[in-house]
Amino acid sequence: MEGDSAMADALPGELTDDEVLAAVAEHRGLEGDDELRRLASGARIEHQPLLDCTITRCIESRTTGEETRPAPFDLSGRPVVDDLDAYRQDPPKDPRRRETVRIVLDGSVREVPCHDCSNGKQQCPNCKGTGRLHCEPQVPCTDCKSVTSCTKCRGRGGSRKAPVTPAAPQKVKQPGVRVDCALCDASGTACPRCLGWGKTLCTDCGGDGKVPCRHCQGRGRWRCDTCAGKGRLTVWRGATITRAPENEEVTPPPPRAPWIVRSRLRSRGTWRETVVGPKDRLPADLAAHHRSAIERSLVGKRKGEVTRQVSIRHLPLARVVLSDVQDRVYYVYPGVSRPRVTWIPSRRWVSRVAAGAAAALTTAVLLFVALR
Ligand SMILES: [Zn+2]
Ligand SMILES: [Zn+2]
Ligand SMILES: [Zn+2]
Ligand SMILES: [Zn+2]
Ligand SMILES: [Zn+2]
Repeated sequence: MEGDSAMADALPGELTDDEVLAAVAEHRGLEGDDELRRLASGARIEHQPLLDCTITRCIESRTTGEETRPAPFDLSGRPVVDDLDAYRQDPPKDPRRRETVRIVLDGSVREVPCHDCSNGKQQCPNCKGTGRLHCEPQVPCTDCKSVTSCTKCRGRGGSRKAPVTPAAPQKVKQPGVRVDCALCDASGTACPRCLGWGKTLCTDCGGDGKVPCRHCQGRGRWRCDTCAGKGRLTVWRGATITRAPENEEVTPPPPRAPWIVRSRLRSRGTWRETVVGPKDRLPADLAAHHRSAIERSLVGKRKGEVTRQVSIRHLPLARVVLSDVQDRVYYVYPGVSRPRVTWIPSRRWVSRVAAGAAAALTTAVLLFVALR
């Protein structure tokens, strides 16, 4: 067995070869020293610990400038500072929390009249504040188009009793049947819709010549949004400082257990969880290749980085290949009370089955499961 070299690789807290072999022996139902010795002599153990690592950086950004709000605006809750750019906050206790702080430049607060309105009201540009728009009071008749209004007077009239303005358009009960003319009193000569006028009163304004402005619903003005109808604005110079978390997943370098094993053990086994602050050391029982991968990701500060936190979950894991078991690869990991065993089909077994299997689908599924 290559136990000696593997043993030397074992980390503090890593599973020892004896523990790994004992777990596999129990899993296979082997008993007695002889069987255990035979198992050990044909076993190849490789440590492939699992790692989930997320670096959370707290990134600060600030925008500085003049700000306005409807007056009076309460700024009493905001820190007042002499220099917006020089203002520094303490690093946040929890870098995963998003927070926003607004500060005010000392002596910059003042109140001014709103530049968008007068006294909080804005005039409707559509009707220039009148609330009404011009509308033609009379419109050409839609039936006779003012051409054949009355076959006798052609809409020019002649009777003294004739009304001064046309009427509202009439309801036509018998289209095409001419009626008595309202202008010249001739009978059966006029268009039934306009009664000879050639025009009718406009149905929109009823002959008024004005309609309410649709833009302002006839009110002529409305509340100014800029000052919320207050007519005045509070103006100041300030800065908004935003702190937001940015997560980076550290991809563990090889040797890595296959995907199927990693996903199976995601919620099994006794994972070791540590949260490391910006000045803390990484956990001592981390595998060397994991440690260096995390350290590489931690080099240098990002733009605006205020603080960082490293969340680490790792699980010791040993891969075991037995010389007399060709079809399986075992994986041993620490359980709650003792090491646990899981297994996957070996590559060799999968390729043999794949070669023999006619069903292409089976092949694909097996390869996918075992080799990914
Ligand atoms: Zn209007
Ligand atoms: Zn009209
Ligand atoms: Zn007529
Ligand atoms: Zn008509
Ligand atoms: Zn205003």
